Amino acid sequence: MRLSRYFLPILRETPKEAEIVSHRLMLRAGMIRQEAAGIYAWLPLGLRVLNRVADIIRAEQDRSGAIELLMPTIQSADLWRESGRYDAYGKEMLRIKDRHERDMLFGPTNEEMITAIFRSAVRSYKDLPKNLYHIQWKFRDEVRPRFGTMRSREFLMKDAYSFDLDQASARHSYNKMFVAYLRTFARLGLKAIPMRAETGPIGGDLSHEFIILAQTGESEVFCDRAYLDFATPDATTDFDDVAGLQATVDHWTSRYAATSEMHDAAAFAEVPQPEQMAARGIEVGHIFYFGTKYSEPMGAKVTGPDGQERPVHMGSYGIGPSRLVAAIIEAGHDEAGIVWPDAVAPFDVALLNLKVGDAGTDAACAKLQGELEAAGLTVLYDDRDERPGGKFATADLIGLPWQVIVGPKGLAEGKVEVKRRATGARETVAPDAVPAYLR
Ligand code: ATP
Ligand code: MG
Ligand code: MG
Ligand code: MG
Repeated sequence: MRLSRYFLPILRETPKEAEIVSHRLMLRAGMIRQEAAGIYAWLPLGLRVLNRVADIIRAEQDRSGAIELLMPTIQSADLWRESGRYDAYGKEMLRIKDRHERDMLFGPTNEEMITAIFRSAVRSYKDLPKNLYHIQWKFRDEVRPRFGTMRSREFLMKDAYSFDLDQASARHSYNKMFVAYLRTFARLGLKAIPMRAETGPIGGDLSHEFIILAQTGESEVFCDRAYLDFATPDATTDFDDVAGLQATVDHWTSRYAATSEMHDAAAFAEVPQPEQMAARGIEVGHIFYFGTKYSEPMGAKVTGPDGQERPVHMGSYGIGPSRLVAAIIEAGHDEAGIVWPDAVAPFDVALLNLKVGDAGTDAACAKLQGELEAAGLTVLYDDRDERPGGKFATADLIGLPWQVIVGPKGLAEGKVEVKRRATGARETVAPDAVPAYLR
């Protein structure tokens, strides 16, 4: 992509309304634009990151055996009357009337709808277990939308819903998501710690929030530092291995980690002092087993092996991709701008032409762009007629993992410069050797 043809509305001034660094950088780097309080347009650069985050989430959901579908954003109030949540949900729900005066709503979550889809199609235990998910926009009329896409009113969510015959098998479904989440956050370059979270009226221990430690986080959390060094389950994990998955979950819940709602000061005091972390964190995911809370009132029943009908056991599992984009920036930035992990960077390489209009430099850049793209890398080629200082600042601000800097002086000596954004390390390389160097 040539920057001269791209749409990258960089802001020079630091926006005053942005209180935290990720919000400032997302605005400055031309990733998002606020359209109304807590409602954002995703501009081209931001959308590329959002899509990459969603793709990693999708790949790990699929690996665990979950199946993707797509439910609408607008739902009928009648569904929510069946579960009793239409009145209970409160002001976070955006309620709408259509032209026939029918009560509709912009979905804040999808338990009711997925339960209705399930009950219309599944009758027997032979069709279980199932886990269905989608990645869809949600609306919650948050009292205090703030921090950009970290707490917005319209936001993207991956929400998965599992269906099982009984609690034992529901636990296996829960464990699959637990492990898929560990893998997902690790692939996003994040250290997310599963913490015991409130379960609501059903109780039990099957609710975890996945939390990234950050000063700007809105949650107060308590955990054992040891989690920061725990190894992530690898790609060969067998999601059908019931005992194996349980062992992984047992390991990842063996130390103390709880959100403030579940905090037990006495148990925390038993963690060796230097290992104790009382910190702030960002909730990036939440998994939850809630049994027959929706299947019972909504009549989502299956026949068991004994011929008896019973309500299915369900769980729901959310991740916020749009919140994650901000969280990744909170975890990866410096004074000059964003530092993207390779896995989610909007482009792999910023190719900087320091003398646009100089035939030799233009030709060398065009050739490099072609070769890098042929090697499978995505390139944002800064071909604007601008001073080098401005180009360096833009490249640092948008945080692409590699910068390839091409100017007539270097070319005369058969060299270009390659800079790694994360470390600032620079190396001179022959132009032909750049693709191999970056691989
Ligand atoms: P919070 O405690 O931050 O309000 P929540 O517990 O209400 O979040 P869940 O219902 O558990 O959120 O939704 C699953 C995920 O969706 C969250 O873990 C988070 O990643 C994301 N999410 C929830 N609310 C928002 C929001 N207002 N803006 C962006 N992402 C959100
Ligand atoms: Mg909330
Ligand atoms: Mg929460
Ligand atoms: Mg939650």
